[in-house]
Amino acid sequence: MNKFIRKSWAEPYKIKMVELLKMTTPVQRKKALHEAGFNTFLLRSEDVYIDLLTDSGTSAMSDHQWSGIMMGDEAYAGSRNFYHLEEVVRNIYGYKYLVPTHQGRGAENILSKVLIKKGDIIPGNMYFTTTRLHQELAGGKFEDIIVDEAHDPENEFPFKGNVDLDKLERIVKKYGAKRIPYVSIATSVNMAGGQPISIKNLKVLRAFTQKHGIRIIHDMTRVAENAHFIQQREKGYHDKSIRQIVKEICSLTDGATMSAKKDALVNIGGFLAVNDWDVFEEARNLVVVYEGLHTYGGLAGRDMEAMAIGIMESISDNHIHARVGQVIYLGEKMISYGVPIVKPIGGHGIFVNAKKFLPHVPQDQFPAQTLAAEVYLDSGVRTMERGVVSAGRKPGGENYYPRLELVRFTIPRRVYTQAHMDVIAESTARVFERRTHIKGLKMVYEPKYLRFFQARFEKL
Ligand SMILES: *Cc1c(COP(=O)(O)O)cnc(C)c1O
Repeated sequence: MNKFIRKSWAEPYKIKMVELLKMTTPVQRKKALHEAGFNTFLLRSEDVYIDLLTDSGTSAMSDHQWSGIMMGDEAYAGSRNFYHLEEVVRNIYGYKYLVPTHQGRGAENILSKVLIKKGDIIPGNMYFTTTRLHQELAGGKFEDIIVDEAHDPENEFPFKGNVDLDKLERIVKKYGAKRIPYVSIATSVNMAGGQPISIKNLKVLRAFTQKHGIRIIHDMTRVAENAHFIQQREKGYHDKSIRQIVKEICSLTDGATMSAKKDALVNIGGFLAVNDWDVFEEARNLVVVYEGLHTYGGLAGRDMEAMAIGIMESISDNHIHARVGQVIYLGEKMISYGVPIVKPIGGHGIFVNAKKFLPHVPQDQFPAQTLAAEVYLDSGVRTMERGVVSAGRKPGGENYYPRLELVRFTIPRRVYTQAHMDVIAESTARVFERRTHIKGLKMVYEPKYLRFFQARFEKL
């Protein structure tokens, strides 16, 4: 190809409505950050210019989804929108039975209560905060079985979401298959930096678990983004559509929990979907206790309609190509400024390696928390910590010290422009230039559960 011809990605939509943003001064940001105890979760959204805290529930809905909102059938029982959602879940993902929940953790709670007994072991391809907590609250213990490459931010292995079968085999030998109710498999592994699992790895895992009579439960929050990487990187999948790949991934698992606030392009919603009637029956019963009747699960009819339409839009090749294209654009720009990021670039955001960015700040002074605060101070860009604060404490009380100490720049879907991506990269580069002057933090308030959401810090 001619080296002057560059092939851009571009959005397969145009903008119909805009939301104005408040621009802040450095003095205002400093005040806001102190009031928030150096925790970006405690900032007011009003004081944020570009919000990369999360891609959860922050997507822009399409005009079709908004018209779906007007088609809400707000019946307590048997809403038309539930049956539409059920049909879409069956068609697109292939799971037989659907239990809607208010969001992903609602599904995790119910699933954990149905499948986990005290003393059970749940192997998974890297922990996720709410997933592991629900496993622990149900009496289980999480065991990490992701490939070693996933714990190395510099390693460019294309499928860092893969399971290391030897690790799983050791766990099965040690505890016995009876104590393993399921293997928990996330697509686009969030905590590893949005890294995909391959179909080949899933197939090997499937054969292994079938032999031992162990289920696979799929955390399908970002399944479409994972499908994109399979299409781009895995042999034999270049000509398959995202829709086909998504269906194949799901077909290799027995059930799923979904936070529809991510891939499925809605502001609230989730579900549990399973193939076993017995599991479904109990989940359908339990959902009444925690979420609401089984045909709404804590959602309004309109929410279920927006979700059904969002799922259809999420598996469009054009959509996913532009979505991941924008993330890669930002990542490449960061790399060009010398900012250390997790590679390969993941599907839903850029993960800056805070250990390498701030090598003089030890892990118990929270380098990623510190860096997130500094980026906000520089430009009003809000990111979040994914390191020692997020990892929390073990059931015994001591801190988890994860190898990855990252700041996540998560990109909401269909929300920001390419110029916003430039502002983000430039701001990070400015902080990088003055990195040697940056001091760490100490934690002055620590909540008991999921501390990263509400912890407070002071500058050392
Ligand atoms: C967000 C998320 C969840 C939890 O879903 P919520 O909708 O936030 O409750 C579970 N797993 C993964 C991988 C997620 O990203």
